[in-house]
Amino acid sequence: MGLERNKDISRYSAFKTPASAEYFFDFTDRSQIPELVELIGRVRQEGFPIVYIAGGTNCLFAFDRFPGAMVHIWLKDFHFSMNGAALVLDAESGAPMGPIVSESVKVHGMPTLTPWVWLPGTIGGAVVGNAGCFWLETSQVVKRVEVLDTVTGAVSFFSNEEMGYAYRTSHLKWHDRHIVLSAEFDLSYTQAENPFARLSISEMQAIRRTKQPPGLSCGSYFTNPPGTSAGKLIDQAGLKGTRIGGMQISPHHANFFVSSEGAVWQDVVELAELAKAKVRERFQTELHEEVRIIK
Ligand SMILES: Cc1cc2nc3c(=O)[nH]c(=O)nc-3n(C[C@H](O)[C@H](O)[C@H](O)COP(=O)(O)OP(=O)(O)OC[C@H]3O[C@@H](n4cnc5c(N)ncnc54)[C@H](O)[C@@H]3O)c2cc1C
Repeated sequence: MGLERNKDISRYSAFKTPASAEYFFDFTDRSQIPELVELIGRVRQEGFPIVYIAGGTNCLFAFDRFPGAMVHIWLKDFHFSMNGAALVLDAESGAPMGPIVSESVKVHGMPTLTPWVWLPGTIGGAVVGNAGCFWLETSQVVKRVEVLDTVTGAVSFFSNEEMGYAYRTSHLKWHDRHIVLSAEFDLSYTQAENPFARLSISEMQAIRRTKQPPGLSCGSYFTNPPGTSAGKLIDQAGLKGTRIGGMQISPHHANFFVSSEGAVWQDVVELAELAKAKVRERFQTELHEEVRIIK
């Protein structure tokens, strides 16, 4: 579709809270790169913000109307190949994680990504946020990342080291200059010590089902403080099940905020501030958002 104005973007965040964007660009094909770079340059020059979104499973829209440009990245191709004995995955940034994990295990017989069964979102979101679970993080398997420099229009590669990976973050999470176009993964990476990599897909699904609350959420709202879990602290602060407006701290897992009919972004922010204050008061520990708060 390319460029749209005054777009209702509510469905692009997993919380599904109401929001709109002045400019919305659906980036579905590389032939759109010149048009996209031109738009971003113009919006920047006018002093308005730019933001990138893919699956929206880790983003809160903390505004009613975004005054700048939201770029929805939806390049979706991926393929597997062999490099000697090594299985290589080349995936565009909008490629969904589910089918990739499933194909790597079922078709190519490679268990490396088994811990990521039911990890929502796309390759781009995982690469930027260093997504991971059950002992496997993106930074352990990504070889290099293809990026578009939105200032110069040039396409180049960042090595794994250049991505500046740390717990649930990378350099790219905090600036808007580069868009991830694709990434290359080494799926021969083995984790002999990881028991989850030895499970079947259905066994992993069963584990995930017991740990993940139902309903609309963006996964873990806060990162885990060193040596403990955010969910445990929020639970011990007595907040499990607390509701503000249409948003609730899940009764199943206190680090999941679950959205229901009528929820607005202010409900999420208020609930988060309450959790932070109670945990600070009770445990002298600061909670930090894992979910990207887009303002
Ligand atoms: C039910 C549920 C369970 C979850 N469980 C986990 C879990 O176990 N482990 C975990 O790590 N996460 C988990 N998450 C969070 C989420 O699934 C991951 O963070 C996922 O990798 C986000 O991908 P996305 O495509 O939705 O990214 P988005 O939410 O669209 O974006 C996330 C960030 O990446 C940036 N971004 C996305 N694509 C690009 C791109 N191409 N170029 C530049 N920047 C980009 C965005 O600007 C934003 O800062 C869960 C979420 C849900 C809803």
